[in-house]
Amino acid sequence: EELTNSEKDWVVQETVKCFRDHVNPGFLEYRKSVSTDYTSVEWKDSGSTFTDVYGREFIDCLGGFGIYNVGHRNPKVIETVINQLKRQALHSQELLDPLRGFLAQLLAKITPGDLQYAFFVNSGTEAVEGALKFARMYTGRTTFIATTRGFHGKSLGSLGATAKGVFRKPFLPLIQGFRHVPYGDADAIAMMLESSAFIGEDVAAVILEPIQGEGGVIVPPDDYLPRVRQLCDRYGALLILDEVQTGMGRTGKLFCCDHYNVVPDILCLAKAFGGGVMPIGAFVSRKEIWQKLIDNPILHSTTFGGNPVCCAAAIANINIILSENLPARAAELGEFMIGRLKELAAQYPSVVQEVRGKGLLIGIEFVTNEIGYEVAKGLFARGVLVAGTYINSKSIRIEPPLTISKEQLEQVLERLKDTLAEVKGMVERGEV
Ligand code: PMP
Repeated sequence: EELTNSEKDWVVQETVKCFRDHVNPGFLEYRKSVSTDYTSVEWKDSGSTFTDVYGREFIDCLGGFGIYNVGHRNPKVIETVINQLKRQALHSQELLDPLRGFLAQLLAKITPGDLQYAFFVNSGTEAVEGALKFARMYTGRTTFIATTRGFHGKSLGSLGATAKGVFRKPFLPLIQGFRHVPYGDADAIAMMLESSAFIGEDVAAVILEPIQGEGGVIVPPDDYLPRVRQLCDRYGALLILDEVQTGMGRTGKLFCCDHYNVVPDILCLAKAFGGGVMPIGAFVSRKEIWQKLIDNPILHSTTFGGNPVCCAAAIANINIILSENLPARAAELGEFMIGRLKELAAQYPSVVQEVRGKGLLIGIEFVTNEIGYEVAKGLFARGVLVAGTYINSKSIRIEPPLTISKEQLEQVLERLKDTLAEVKGMVERGEV
């Protein structure tokens, strides 16, 4: 049904009210004009565009904050979900459900190394919560090492790992035992493991993102993950990799840890795992780590986690990612895009500070917050939607569907070029 203009305004206002950006008030302004939450999103042009309530068309470089790896409303996922709904919707008989078993088997095949057992949940936060519980359960230790600017969720447990004061302070005291070290610095982890062992607080797990997403798309040095893996082995700590944002082909491999040939002890997934249609997350691990739960299943459970509708969506999603070779596509398009963005950045040093990324997880850091906001606003006016990042307020993320076409990326670059020229003028005139 057509919305009246006042209804459309209401939708936009409600969207803005619902959106709380603690980081950069500029992005809040920017969001005021965006009404994505009530859009009609049809599969067309590779599933990478949408139309808002006013009929304006956008190229989506926000990607639902990383959930649309197979595009918006991918018809194959939708059809699978509809068929599943016709057969069966929700139930909670974890062990008897063939779809859940099939999805677990599929994950055992596609995840690296000996990760074989999967527990299904409803979000990234829950995947992290479960992973932290399992690390304590398996090791009998209580301490965790996490990284500054890391984001792992906002529940009381996961917030322990998330490193942002404004998210944490109102809820102190959090779960005890989290220590934070600078991201990308394996020596800092070595020192923390050593000193924890020295004072008798052996570390249960190190938890980190293989590329920090909300932290502003921070790509660590190539030897970071392999060194952290070695350190964890040396000190008997588990390695939890949070691939909620980097998984499912986003960075050019199915899982980001595949770039580094590192196998974590526990791998967390969510966001794009449900094909951008259903909410589902998982944490995947080795049988040995699972054994206590196998012996005593009441230690961790969930009613909706791994329900048949979400499992069906996740299976369809994995099939699409593999059969359409989307990780390779992300790698190729990412290389093209990052190369072109770096060229543009070099032409506009008064606006852009740095371009970073891997595959189609790309961050652009601006000289100031305000400049970043003007660029996001300028892109919006030109029909390109980008995301700010939660923790690094000077950066924006470019995180489009992996199905996006090269022509669409070229259009994004054209519009960005115009925007950068405009903002450069504003900087020169002292307007920003
Ligand atoms: N971990 C990472 C790396 C994330 O990026 C996010 C969400 N931005 C989460 C965990 C939390 O996931 P969710 O919002 O699905 O609970």
